[in-house]
Amino acid sequence: MSPDKKATLFLVATPIGNLSEASPRSVEVLKSVDVIACEDTRNSKKLLSHFDIHTRMITYHNFNERESSKGILSLLEKGEDVALISDAGYPLISDPGYLLVQEVIKAGFAIVTVSGPNAGLNALVASGLPTGHYLFYGFLNAKASQDEKELAALKDFPYTLIFYEAPHRIEKTLKLALKVLGDRRACLARELTKLHEEYHRDTLSKLCELHDLKGEMVLIIEGQNEEKEVSLEVLLKEVKEEIKAGMRSKEAISTVAKKYDVSKNSLYEEYLKQKEDKQDEGE
Ligand code: SAM
Repeated sequence: MSPDKKATLFLVATPIGNLSEASPRSVEVLKSVDVIACEDTRNSKKLLSHFDIHTRMITYHNFNERESSKGILSLLEKGEDVALISDAGYPLISDPGYLLVQEVIKAGFAIVTVSGPNAGLNALVASGLPTGHYLFYGFLNAKASQDEKELAALKDFPYTLIFYEAPHRIEKTLKLALKVLGDRRACLARELTKLHEEYHRDTLSKLCELHDLKGEMVLIIEGQNEEKEVSLEVLLKEVKEEIKAGMRSKEAISTVAKKYDVSKNSLYEEYLKQKEDKQDEGE
């Protein structure tokens, strides 16, 4: 291994609002590397001057990732350590850096991550929605009808969904989510770690009643069927209601089985069993 292969790319997470959330290690790394690659030097300057960091900065852009990656690779080749940061949170998470990481791995340099805040996880853990399994989706495609297609592809996903959204699109996205996913539980988390941090925990239909939402926000939506398993009692009650409303028993069973995606035959057996039990009891 040549000596220049010793250079390291550090992926450093930075605060998503509250500057006190920069970890001591992140500050140490940003002070010690030769170069900091950031999205926008004006934004990163605030963080760096707050912590008295004077490391040389270069820009790493989403729109010319290939060119930017080449520049960073040549620094690593020269033996210079580079830290990649974004405007907030983790680089690469709805932020540039993926291409760079691929190239750096290919070139054989070390990559080290420095942990820190992430808007999606902050919102998820406070949302009150299941955290056992989740999907981080990030931004939906803003192009007309593309967002609807993307949501439709997630309709049957059984785990909690995490979306990033811009304030000028949130009302449209909430309405679309209600239309495509149905009226699920959700949480809109705003201005995380900042002075006006707030959480709206409600159903999508209720969240659609919110207006003039400002600031940065994350939308968490419960997955399909989570905590929604229906009991046999509820299924049979619905069958009876359909029969009462005029359906024949077989039709009622098939309708309810389809609605809750359960086996028609099993539901029919249970229905007959209950009917027999009731007859035995003399009902
Ligand atoms: N890399 C970041 C991360 O790790 O969370 C995400 C960057 S992405 C370009 C910006 C989006 O993240 C915002 O539009 C918003 O959806 C979310 N976000 C960032 N900071 C936030 C905050 N303080 N409160 C709520 N959402 C935030």
